[in-house]
Amino acid sequence: MYITASDLYNYVKCPHLIWRDKYGPQGEKIRETNPFVDLLWQRGIQHEEEVVNKIGQFIDLHVGTLEERFERTVKEMKKGTPLLYQGVIMHDNLLGIPDLLKKISENIYVPIDIKSGMGFEGSDEDDVDEGKPKKHYALQLCLYVEILKNLGFAKENNGKIIDISGKEVDYLLDTAQGSKTPESWWGLYQSVKKDVKALLENQQQNKPALSGICKLCCWCNSCKKWCRKESDLTNIFYLGRSRRDVISKDIKIEKMEQLKELNIATILASKKLDKSFLRGIGEELLKKYINRAEIITKTKKPVVYKKIELPKVPTELFFDIEDDPTQDFIYLHGVYKREKGKGEFIPFLAKEFARESEKEAWNMFWTYINSLPLNSYAVYYYSSHEKTAYKHLRERYPDIITQEELEGFFANPNVIDLYSKIILKYTDWPLSSYSIKDIATLLGFKWRDETPSGALSIQWYNEYLKTSDGDILKRILEYNEDDCKAMMVLKDEIESLSNRL
Ligand code: SF4
Repeated sequence: MYITASDLYNYVKCPHLIWRDKYGPQGEKIRETNPFVDLLWQRGIQHEEEVVNKIGQFIDLHVGTLEERFERTVKEMKKGTPLLYQGVIMHDNLLGIPDLLKKISENIYVPIDIKSGMGFEGSDEDDVDEGKPKKHYALQLCLYVEILKNLGFAKENNGKIIDISGKEVDYLLDTAQGSKTPESWWGLYQSVKKDVKALLENQQQNKPALSGICKLCCWCNSCKKWCRKESDLTNIFYLGRSRRDVISKDIKIEKMEQLKELNIATILASKKLDKSFLRGIGEELLKKYINRAEIITKTKKPVVYKKIELPKVPTELFFDIEDDPTQDFIYLHGVYKREKGKGEFIPFLAKEFARESEKEAWNMFWTYINSLPLNSYAVYYYSSHEKTAYKHLRERYPDIITQEELEGFFANPNVIDLYSKIILKYTDWPLSSYSIKDIATLLGFKWRDETPSGALSIQWYNEYLKTSDGDILKRILEYNEDDCKAMMVLKDEIESLSNRL
């Protein structure tokens, strides 16, 4: 059984995915492709075509069986052909199809993958050299390099990425993963490859773990079912796979109900003796987990831990943006206004995928905000995403609002990030996720859309741009309005729970 670049990519995304894909309950797998995942796929293909159209002459090896393509690839490399597209390389149990193989000296080739993301983690359009290599890109290049070395067509552990901006980014695979992780990418690759092999051959099994990425995975329902049935620790908000695995290894606890039996004093004493014991999980976190497990498994009710005073103002604005991070584009600023008991939805939409249109929508949003009498309103939003996105927008359009004005807006005590300032600090919920969708649904709120999701909104927006279909636009706006209203429901519930203290 071959190990491929996709296997390595999937392993980085979720270490359980490889095993479940092969040995999981196939009847529980969602067969329809998620339209957003499909959109990303289409974009990837389109970007690859654009890059390939510009790279000049190459031998195209994308047609034929794997064996035929492998034979032709080796033949072309032996001949010294400068550039090969979609060649197949194989050795032992490794199989790779790098987008490009580029000759750099006599019989020596470097593998290049074309990616529709930035070349490095944390880099932006202007400075691609900032940031660090992306794990999945690095591992995939390692696989190609190992095969090439075994075939005698590479000597150094180096590869390249052509990223979304068309830049060639060097991946030096013998370098450390980071200042705190001295192990090289090559070293990481060797251990990941071993795990992937064992999972593919069913020599090793691992467990699902509830996390944010599950939402876009075809095993989402299946893994959620397993985690619920097993009362897995990842049902606890903010516990996650790695801490779950540490807890089960160090204190042999697998289920939420077992947490309450823990003797904290004994655990702390063990931690004092052995620093690696329950690494990354201190007293406060452990108590939080025990408490959250109790809320999920027993009381099943939300808790507000302290009296919360929210602004008493005539106008409340619940605000949420919709953006397409894959294109760094904010297409909607939605505001649901509540005044004198009445609600009104005020959307500011970029009607075209163009910077002028994005700027216009943002300008209209600020014109609206600035039209409100100071101190007469409060603004609620959910998570730091809005603030971060607005910082970027301000840098992009400095003539709309000054940095001081923007900072002043978010520093205003009447402008409240419900998630970071209240939900995370002073509440707990009988849920594994504290997303607005999960909490508002628990509170009985219903989105009008049957499949509400930010990712799908991006796909709808792209569809709207192509078709100008009014029904699609309605769907986008209704979804955003419902997100804003969900925040209002949550804000009211927090006040009501707080008033009972
Ligand atoms: S649903 Fe989540 S845990 Fe399950 S395979 Fe997918 S990403 Fe992994």
